[in-house]
Amino acid sequence: MPISTTLPHPKLSVVFSSPHPSQYLHALPWSPRSISYRPPPPRPRCYLLASLHRARDHNGTLLLRNEDIDPHRSKPAYLEATLEDLAWLGIEWQPPLISQSQRTDLYHSAFHRLLQQGDIYPCHCSRKDLALMMHAPHEDENDEPVYDGHCRPTHAAPSLIEDQASNYRFRVSDGETITFTDLNHGPQSFTAGKDFGDFLIWRGDNLPSYQLACVVDDADTQITEVVRGADLLKSTARQILLQRALNLPQPSYFHTHLLRDEHGLRLAKRHDALAIRTLRAQGLTPSQVLSLATQSMTSVTSNS
Ligand SMILES: [Zn+2]
Repeated sequence: MPISTTLPHPKLSVVFSSPHPSQYLHALPWSPRSISYRPPPPRPRCYLLASLHRARDHNGTLLLRNEDIDPHRSKPAYLEATLEDLAWLGIEWQPPLISQSQRTDLYHSAFHRLLQQGDIYPCHCSRKDLALMMHAPHEDENDEPVYDGHCRPTHAAPSLIEDQASNYRFRVSDGETITFTDLNHGPQSFTAGKDFGDFLIWRGDNLPSYQLACVVDDADTQITEVVRGADLLKSTARQILLQRALNLPQPSYFHTHLLRDEHGLRLAKRHDALAIRTLRAQGLTPSQVLSLATQSMTSVTSNS
């Protein structure tokens, strides 16, 4: 049962992550027409303004989550800048700030549960092995390739032993169709083992994967609606399998359309011209930034 039925107002997540060391908060979704650049590998996950609109329209609560789990990527200066940008825009979020780096016990306990249930197995494939799999045909260049099952044991076996230096993968139920209704894109359907394979749960550097941390955090903070980009639609199918394995509630999902420039290349938040502080330095007011973003949200949605 969705947990939204037990709460007076929906809780929406606003996720700030730092996939690149030079990250400032961006005004996505917003599509400037005159910019051309190569799309960077990190995914644009900062759908702040879409979340804001959803929260306003549905009388929801905005939470701010700092995906600072990876010490090599997260820098306190960028968080400080984000908080300052949010305050400048007049965007209120409900404290406390959720910092993934402070929540590793929760991720560890979910990891051990999956291990005991036989849902995950160690993967010893090298970067080179995985790079070869990358060359296998897969339809979405921004999604991970379907894992070829090289390290998957014949039978799922519960384990209590943890090999710290290994990656761990979730054994998907091959052939199962995972369906959900996206609040923006409508009915979705993905087949495990075909559209996506056994996916990463725990990393060899002893950090949880994005999928695991996301699912644990959404449930722990009672998120009822997740707003993020359409490049993560397939990840939602993965996360639904994880929610089921961990017996966690499933939130609603609203995936925004992805923005592309005039050459059809995907816009991402790494592009500095989209940084709120760049717009601010150019003399735009908070309401101008917000209204530009709103206009482009509308036009992007109607064009797609
Ligand atoms: Zn492997």
